[in-house]
Amino acid sequence: MPDSAGLSVQFVKGVGPHKARLLAGLGINTITDAFHYLPFRYEDRSTFRPITNLQPGSRETVSGTIVSLKAKGHRLSILEVVIFDKAGYLKITWFNQPYLKRTFKMGQSLVVSGMVKQNTRDMPPLMMESPEYETLPDDADALIHSGRVVPFYGLTEGISQKQLRKIMFSIIAEYTADLRDPLPPDLLARNDLPALQESIRELHFPGNADHLADLNTGMSRYHRRIIFEEFFLFGLGLAVLRETARQEKGISFRPKGNLGRALLEQLPFELTSAQKRVIGEIRKDMQESCPMNRLIQGDVGCGKTIVALSAMLDAVESGCQAVLMAPTEILAEQHFINIRSMIGQLGLNVHLVTGGTKKNSAPSADVFSSDIIIGTHALIQEKVKFRKLGLAVIDEQHKFGVMQRAVLRKKGVNPDVLVMTATPIPRSLALTVYGDLDCSVIDELPPNRKPVLTTWIESTKKDDIYAVLRRELGMGRQAYVVYPAIEESERLKLKTAVQGKEAFAQKFPEFRVGLMHGRMHAEERAKVMSLFKKKEIDILVSTTVIEVGVDVANASVMLIVHAERFGLSQLHQLRGRVGRGVDRSYCILIAYHPVGEDARRRLDIMVRTNDGFRIAEEDLAIRGPGEFLGTRQAGLSGLRNADIVRHAAILEAAKNEAFSLVEKDAELKELPFLKEHLDVFWKGRVDLFKTG
Ligand code: ADP
Ligand code: MG
Repeated sequence: MPDSAGLSVQFVKGVGPHKARLLAGLGINTITDAFHYLPFRYEDRSTFRPITNLQPGSRETVSGTIVSLKAKGHRLSILEVVIFDKAGYLKITWFNQPYLKRTFKMGQSLVVSGMVKQNTRDMPPLMMESPEYETLPDDADALIHSGRVVPFYGLTEGISQKQLRKIMFSIIAEYTADLRDPLPPDLLARNDLPALQESIRELHFPGNADHLADLNTGMSRYHRRIIFEEFFLFGLGLAVLRETARQEKGISFRPKGNLGRALLEQLPFELTSAQKRVIGEIRKDMQESCPMNRLIQGDVGCGKTIVALSAMLDAVESGCQAVLMAPTEILAEQHFINIRSMIGQLGLNVHLVTGGTKKNSAPSADVFSSDIIIGTHALIQEKVKFRKLGLAVIDEQHKFGVMQRAVLRKKGVNPDVLVMTATPIPRSLALTVYGDLDCSVIDELPPNRKPVLTTWIESTKKDDIYAVLRRELGMGRQAYVVYPAIEESERLKLKTAVQGKEAFAQKFPEFRVGLMHGRMHAEERAKVMSLFKKKEIDILVSTTVIEVGVDVANASVMLIVHAERFGLSQLHQLRGRVGRGVDRSYCILIAYHPVGEDARRRLDIMVRTNDGFRIAEEDLAIRGPGEFLGTRQAGLSGLRNADIVRHAAILEAAKNEAFSLVEKDAELKELPFLKEHLDVFWKGRVDLFKTG
């Protein structure tokens, strides 16, 4: 990479430390950042429409010299300006912006864009009211801001459009020639993509107006090129990760299978055939010398935990440590409690690491001596060190990014990795999240699961459902009640968990009501959870902290308050908390007025199906994939302009190129510059290539 690429913009002509700080706020730290900070719109100022040709009722951009400047009024100030473009006059008015009087000077060039109107009060005959404007100095700067297709950038407080445009202009003029194209020419040709230098120039200061319309929709061939490059580098990183992992020497586990057998023998149920098949696939991976990188997909409640645990025992039996990382403290604690009880008699050391773990308890010492370590992302902190990490399991992978997974991997020497998710992702999007993984599907629920009966009602009919609740509780079952918020928020007027707990305690005095939310201490929550498990709490009122993975088989009612405010995946996850025993379970969704059209659609789908894969598809259709995947995908952060939703087709093409390149040349020996560039692209996230 040429030296200027990483150069701080501070050293660009006319920037300096103060402006550099402002630019940093826009994500522009280096020259490369600036290149990739694309305009959001362009205006053709190569030829302005003559004022004499203007038609009232159309939006136009014109340029002229200020020939009259009048401020009027006191309480309601009006600034009247007249410009002249050598043939015609245009009147322009601004209301209540007295400072503008100081902005403009007689004789100055002014560019205005706005709606042309008839001037009915005086002369000249045409006018604009409060148009967008720019003043043009008379020197060479004018060539940056007019007489061409002019870019408009997203701004930040303290920098004007013209200042930023000027900075960009000098960066493009000065540094574009240094740019080396990381994409090989044959790849460019195959995909009909323009070269890098040309693309950067055309995207910032287009040479002519030929591509104006495409530029303005963000779909010009130059955009396509930049977006392709981002996806390509991203996909290439994943492909390299996958390929190097395959070629690396991992651990060939040779478990006798005694621990796994002991586990299964004491289970009160038989594994489903899907579970057995997936356990088999994992065993096979683990015995091979290359490290496993496997994804397990399976709907809520299909029994992924036991499958993971079986693999963890295999690892432990081979003399390694196994770690399980979960997205929330609640879930980590839950796994900890469950797993400890399931393998209690096996004489293994199990340890929990969460952000809430007491600081003075020196987690590293405990971690070091444990067989099985369970925790949240606290596990990937630098200070957590393992003795011999053999297997890393990541639960509910969609809540983590590719990077977090990679960091966990690096805590061992080529450990096997197993990731689990209940959120199916459509193929086109899978690359960004699972591009480097092999996949197993648990496509079967344990037998005798009755589908959860789901209804949704408007809040006005609440009393009917209290009867259902009372009946279930009377039969010795338990219930969850989930609220979207903790404390009363006046603005949103939501029923809150804290209030809700009081209300339920009053309405159901014969039952014990507990409360759990994210602002409670981990120990407190663990206590509430264990009371609920021991059935010393009948109704657990909670926020969505119980969303993923919590498992109490005796709970048969899931009541969701303000269900209209929840997303589909979330509703499905919440519903998955019940229906885990043999009893019939109920999911009751209470919606508050007004229930919008999308909310109705979501609630209807919930009533219609229990199938997580179908629900995920519908969710995608309603929300679109960007929302669907959420912003937590740290792995996507390298994508500045590429958007997996809008640019799905480019993503597909870029992914194919990336994977086929790595298949031919995994270490990119033939393309040293691309390799260097790729390393920079992924820097600070993952070291793609081992040094030495
Ligand atoms: P998820 O796939 O959503 O993580 P879990 O692993 O939490 O599901 O399992 C859900 C519940 O089903 C747990 O209580 C678990 O003990 C139980 N379970 C798992 N496998 C079976 C099976 N084959 N038969 C009956 N119950 C099972
Ligand atoms: Mg689970």
